[in-house]
Amino acid sequence: MTYKTDIEIARDAQKRPIQEIGAKLGIGAEDLLPYGHDKAKVSQSFINSVQDRPNGKLVLVTAINPTPAGEGKTTTTVGLGDGLNRIGKKAAICIREASLGPNFGMKGGAAGGGLAQVVPMEDMNLHFTGDFHAITSAHNLLSAMIDNHIYWGNELEIDIRRIVWRRVLDMNDRALRQITASLGGVANGFPRETGFDITVASEVMAILCLARDLADLQERLGNMIVAYRRDRSPVFCRDIKADGAMTVLLKDAMQPNLVQTLENNPAFVHGGPFANIAHGCNSVTATTTALKIADYVVTEAGFGADLGAEKFMNIKCRKAGLAPDAVVLVATVRAMKMNGGVAKADLGEENVAAVEAGCPNLGRHLANLKSFGVPVVVAINHFVTDTEAEVKAVQDYIAAQGAEAIECRHWAMGSEGIEDLARKVVELAEGGTSAFAPLYPDDMPLMKKVETIAKRIYHADAVLADKSVRNQLAAWEEQGYGHLPICMAKTQYSFSTDPNLRGAPTGHSVPIREVRLSAGAGFVVVICGEIMTMPGLPRIPSAESIRLNDDGQIEGLF
Ligand code: ADP
Ligand code: MG
Repeated sequence: MTYKTDIEIARDAQKRPIQEIGAKLGIGAEDLLPYGHDKAKVSQSFINSVQDRPNGKLVLVTAINPTPAGEGKTTTTVGLGDGLNRIGKKAAICIREASLGPNFGMKGGAAGGGLAQVVPMEDMNLHFTGDFHAITSAHNLLSAMIDNHIYWGNELEIDIRRIVWRRVLDMNDRALRQITASLGGVANGFPRETGFDITVASEVMAILCLARDLADLQERLGNMIVAYRRDRSPVFCRDIKADGAMTVLLKDAMQPNLVQTLENNPAFVHGGPFANIAHGCNSVTATTTALKIADYVVTEAGFGADLGAEKFMNIKCRKAGLAPDAVVLVATVRAMKMNGGVAKADLGEENVAAVEAGCPNLGRHLANLKSFGVPVVVAINHFVTDTEAEVKAVQDYIAAQGAEAIECRHWAMGSEGIEDLARKVVELAEGGTSAFAPLYPDDMPLMKKVETIAKRIYHADAVLADKSVRNQLAAWEEQGYGHLPICMAKTQYSFSTDPNLRGAPTGHSVPIREVRLSAGAGFVVVICGEIMTMPGLPRIPSAESIRLNDDGQIEGLF
């Protein structure tokens, strides 16, 4: 049997006008700012008008440690939204926007897959409603103003060797990782070393996704640290006086984007911060607005639950005053096999013993999630190569842990294939058993917070940190940043910091390489391992095969 590609399915979608999708959530046509016929932003005045309403139920979709193929979190988020609508619930989904650069490197979109997708997927994966362009512009305006400030006399006494604000571009371009700027003589400023990150790595992106409203956005932008003086005192964005103009550039980008699933259900697609040096969730504005107008909101966190769900709980929920009512933990038989030691090339063959050997990874994520006080159900995202015996092995393992693992066929069947999971999610969410609490209190010392995450979530024995790292954390505590949550940046492939250590490792330690302060976004980034903030393209980038066909349709994107 052959299956259609994601883009072929998306192209055949029977889309409804975006006003009809808005109407399902009670958003009038006057409050939808259309971008074409199938995309719209939701007006700020509408968002303001629903603030006093009670919240619907919040469902988080997260996953086991991913294998290089991706486990289908977005596909399951979209499928579950459709499944909830199918069983009569008014449900909306909230996911991230896609970064443009990676589309031209390796295949793989961010709109879900199979019969569980968000459309128009080509738009969503390319320019969409221009939010990322706005973020790029706002970020680079600040960059330009910093160099301009220095050019005109450097009244703030910025140490040009200690400028931490770089430039951004939404493109995979390794040539720009490290550059020398301001060459060419006196008229071009003072030569200095700097570089580019990809737009999704910008602190402006993280701020857009955490800000409650435009006033909060501007306040947070102003709080960003852009450089240090010779005495190591910080220079803020507000000292450069860029926060006002940046907010102007971001005014439209702050409004959530509404699109639809293949089954014409509402989908908010807004914001897309990195999941390593940032928190990896869609915007707080989209999630909180959706909660006011839908009975169920299904949302996703990037990477596996050790990073994605942990940050969703400890950063996003803490800051936005949210609490998940249920959590769906996505697993695949393939990933269980990989965690059980099977090589990628051999995943197509039945291997129950390897599935069983890989299950402890799933079991640890399950126990971790439960420790946040939230009810959890496991979703087995079914692949056509899975055998009955393999699926049963996962279900038996999870039953022994006192939870349920439900097989889902939304990728192949759409909402019809995920009804059982939808019903279970309703049972958990309505059961009112969620007693959500973040892992650590605000007032715990920063180093202690890192240790809590490492021990409780990664099951590590210890955190290793040089004196310089410890001193830096202590200095930030003295400067009033001690209450901030931690944003861990480590490999997504393992509970440990070694990507090859699969399963449920113990006896490992977590070495901290570097710490960074995102004073505007409001978290301390703890870097454990190599973190790339400007990706490169592979030897044969997918850009080589992307083109328009004779009908003007995009070929080769997915
Ligand atoms: P994640 O959000 O976890 O990164 P995605 O949902 O984006 O993963 O899925 C990654 C890729 O895997 C997509 O191309 C999607 O079409 C594909 N995929 C997801 N679920 C299935 C499935 N059940 N069978 C086959 N392919 C799938
Ligand atoms: Mg995803």
